[in-house]
Amino acid sequence: VREGRLLIRGGHLVTMDDATLDLARGDVLVEGSRIEAIRQDIPADDAEVIDARGMIVMPGMVDGHKHTWQTIFRGTGGNQTLQEFFGEAVPATAPHLQPDDVYASNLLGAVDALHAGVTTILDWCHATLTPDHSRAAFRALRESGIRAWFAHGPSLLTWSDREADHPADLRAIRNEMDAADGRVRLAMAARGPMFAELPVTIRDFSLARDLGIPISVHVDMPGYPGEDVLRLGDAGVLGPDVCLLHGNTITEREIEIALEAGCTFVDSSVCDVLMGIGSEITHRLLSAGAEFGISPDTPVVNPTDLFWTMRATLLLERSRAYRPTFEADAQPMGAHLSARRMVEAATIHGARAIWMGDQVGSLSPGKRADIVLLDGAALGLAPMNDPTEAICFDASPGNVDTVLVDGQIVKRGGRMVGVDVDRVRQLAVEARDRVFEAAARNGYQPRWRAAASALPA
Ligand SMILES: [Zn+2]
Repeated sequence: VREGRLLIRGGHLVTMDDATLDLARGDVLVEGSRIEAIRQDIPADDAEVIDARGMIVMPGMVDGHKHTWQTIFRGTGGNQTLQEFFGEAVPATAPHLQPDDVYASNLLGAVDALHAGVTTILDWCHATLTPDHSRAAFRALRESGIRAWFAHGPSLLTWSDREADHPADLRAIRNEMDAADGRVRLAMAARGPMFAELPVTIRDFSLARDLGIPISVHVDMPGYPGEDVLRLGDAGVLGPDVCLLHGNTITEREIEIALEAGCTFVDSSVCDVLMGIGSEITHRLLSAGAEFGISPDTPVVNPTDLFWTMRATLLLERSRAYRPTFEADAQPMGAHLSARRMVEAATIHGARAIWMGDQVGSLSPGKRADIVLLDGAALGLAPMNDPTEAICFDASPGNVDTVLVDGQIVKRGGRMVGVDVDRVRQLAVEARDRVFEAAARNGYQPRWRAAASALPA
């Protein structure tokens, strides 16, 4: 067996590559960090073989918008709106975050993503209280083995300052991160015209372009000045390096402007509805013919996996699409929005949305070997019929048998490989305890009820 040569044999391939198409039984040959070949009956030669019979073999999934630092706050925001969460919980807790806490949260969030078959994330980080916080967040991503954009945002502590430029730290961080191995790269998480004056945003965008890094930005939520995309378009600062998030009040004209400029979209409709951020945007992107990625956005209300996000996005869409027919006292014919379309959003469209469509998002020769195997024989998936329906409607992180990033196995037989999961969990528990204890000393009483062992009385 030659090192770095791996044959994934006999799986049901869901390639998400139009040229390769799906194969009911096919092989994927990995050479080092890349996919070398995809077809039937590749000779094993000197390759290490992974028997994928009965498994779905699919590209690693892509989450284009994740506030990973909030992972230690999961299970605390589900019964709050965004305004309550950011009005109460964040100001009470976030100032107490130490770099180690951000490290622990990001590490858990990244390891949990890999466990769920999400091999690429855009970590939208505003826990950037100091440059050391940013370094800790970045270090955790690197150590986890995940592929990521570390999208550096303005600190939560100065978030509401509409006159503040993006922190100049970004320049120094850029220089440090340039030395990294390339699996984790730097992006700007821009405050944008919702949270800053337009001239500030224009300056922020030009800083990102100076540094040669792409931009992820929240736009057009209800209750804010609005027409963000229109204003950015008028200012001439939109481009293919700008990924737009939320967009709940976006107009058809604005979508047109964004698409003409080459901007991309990551949909977070599930979080938008759960947290009372705004109405779902999906149908507007669909009717404009726009591609989009999907994202759980914040771990305080959403699980890490994209199975849930695919399913819930589709549920919202069908609820909206069928309503007029129900109101006319009739039954709809023809299902709205397919499972395959949602799997595209979770893979290739998500990859393109965060500027990585030529690297990941499909099983294609030459691309990075970021590959996920789902156990089609699991009780929840058997007997596996249409694999895209299995992925979208039935699968859960527990069905993720094997995960590869850059051809390296990070999960095998349902277990994480090369990572001390107990340590990851322990660090997260300690960080959570530290932050909530510090907040409690300052008089903060959370709205949610703590588990008995977790917090001080
Ligand atoms: Zn967000």
